[in-house]
Amino acid sequence: MSFVCQKKGCKEFSRDECTCMLKHRFCPRHMEEHRNISTCNAISIKNEFEATKKKCLKAKKMLAEQRKNLIKISKEMIKKINKMLKSGLKKIVENEHILKIIIETYNKNQIDSFSQSFQSIFFSTESLKETVKKSISLVNSDSKYY
Ligand SMILES: [Zn+2]
Ligand SMILES: [Zn+2]
Repeated sequence: MSFVCQKKGCKEFSRDECTCMLKHRFCPRHMEEHRNISTCNAISIKNEFEATKKKCLKAKKMLAEQRKNLIKISKEMIKKINKMLKSGLKKIVENEHILKIIIETYNKNQIDSFSQSFQSIFFSTESLKETVKKSISLVNSDSKYY
């Protein structure tokens, strides 16, 4: 239930609820006006208002925290992916250089051992995708602490 004064056009917050059937919520000024024409009593809703306000502020704070966390985690992931990209490209360039030398003589032993070592630096698109997916699902499960 809203805490805004029920008097049309009034944007003030109500501090009391009256004991009429409809349980009107009016700001102090309009409550006084209402009670001049009614015999009802006004009951303070201050505690309920404060509690609701506190909940709203908490939710706002949580969203801000989530934004901060998301940016932080994303930056870390981007940094890691960039690092992997750099070192991966470096390895590829090194191996292209080795292969270029092998190709000059088409040395069978050299190309066999090269092919073997090449397997160890092979980047699988699937495993890469999996790694990124896992990190993303971690981020998503982190945000579910409501
Ligand atoms: Zn009333
Ligand atoms: Zn009012």
